[in-house]
Amino acid sequence: MYVTHLECPKCELTYESEQPIQLCTCGAPLLVGYDLDRVRDSLSKEVLASRKPTLWRYRELLPIRKDENILSLGESMTPVLPLGRLGPEVGMPHLWMKDEGLLPTGTFKARGAAVGVSRARELGIKVLAMPTNGNAGAAWAAYCAAAGIRAVIVMPADSPAINRKECIIAGASLYLVNGRISDAGKIIREAVDRFGWYDASTLKEPYRIEGKKTMGLELLEQFNWQAPDVIVYPTGGGVGIIGIYKALKELRTMGWIGEKLPRLVAVQSTGCAPIVKAWQENRKESQFWENAHTIAFGLTVPHALGDFLVLEAVRETNGCAVAVADEDILKAQQMLAQKEGTFVCPEGAATLSAAMKLAKEGWITPQEQIVLLNTGTGLKYAETVHSDPPLLQPGDRL
Ligand SMILES: *Cc1c(COP(=O)(O)O)cnc(C)c1O
Ligand SMILES: [Zn+2]
Repeated sequence: MYVTHLECPKCELTYESEQPIQLCTCGAPLLVGYDLDRVRDSLSKEVLASRKPTLWRYRELLPIRKDENILSLGESMTPVLPLGRLGPEVGMPHLWMKDEGLLPTGTFKARGAAVGVSRARELGIKVLAMPTNGNAGAAWAAYCAAAGIRAVIVMPADSPAINRKECIIAGASLYLVNGRISDAGKIIREAVDRFGWYDASTLKEPYRIEGKKTMGLELLEQFNWQAPDVIVYPTGGGVGIIGIYKALKELRTMGWIGEKLPRLVAVQSTGCAPIVKAWQENRKESQFWENAHTIAFGLTVPHALGDFLVLEAVRETNGCAVAVADEDILKAQQMLAQKEGTFVCPEGAATLSAAMKLAKEGWITPQEQIVLLNTGTGLKYAETVHSDPPLLQPGDRL
């Protein structure tokens, strides 16, 4: 293993990595540090290219000590689709979409769960607890089942029913709360203190982000280590965009990509846009968003622990943060299905809507390479599509 330590991005305290740990004493999330010189010396792009197409091909940049602790449900590399019909119509002839909907449990949350649960098992965790808007709970429940770890999950009562069912079939201890993910988080925090469980809340353990980081590693490998100009990412808790930024920085330190990083765009819904508001007001941290509501359920995070890291990723790459309305998200979802044949989740559709806005404003120019991240399959959000086709009787004619 190439992990050297854990470090706090806020106060710079460091910790050793071989015991269960949650936040820094200052309250900030911890990030995993690697000996990147050693990784560079022991791994080549050619060797990497010959490995199996799963996220474990980036083994040297992942925090698992022993191979036998790796848990896999077949988290394959996900396709980068050229949006050849849609892109030119919306002023972006070089538009791509990386489709994470093909991962186990239908969302990119599987990346975080595969690595996070593998590491939890390696550290001897028996029970872990987490609040979720749905997709993370579904993914962690599945991987915990495979690991023999008990998962205690609290999710908002109005999250998509499929996520509930995924938790239940996997044998997780599931509770619903009449409130938002922030309310679920408070219940978990109290229970974790009382029972001594491992808190797997977003960014409260350092390893989920390492799994999500593989999205960035994989994307760059698929682009032959030539960074695209812009990556557009739907941001809730922010782990995905922080992970992509971490991947880019590690690759840059290793000399595998050039100095210039893609501009990272954080997309939220106008119904819950704390990061966008902080960005517009030029602040380093966000404020709690009251009465959060959006159909893009994964983006309903009123206050993210890692907000300052998202804002840093956006700032340091000359990116930006954009909010789009739910009605525009639904329009974009339809456009992607009707022009490209992809049924994406509302969170993923939000990235198209945001990119269209940025192209119209000239922030994105026509010669640039743009990558949208679709974080999950639309099949998990069947209720976002209104369906009321004409009903025929046997023998009727069209
Ligand atoms: C969780 C989730 C997001 C937000 O991801 P973060 O990494 O927490 O910002 C986006 N899309 C979907 C489908 C999700 O489930
Ligand atoms: Zn700290």
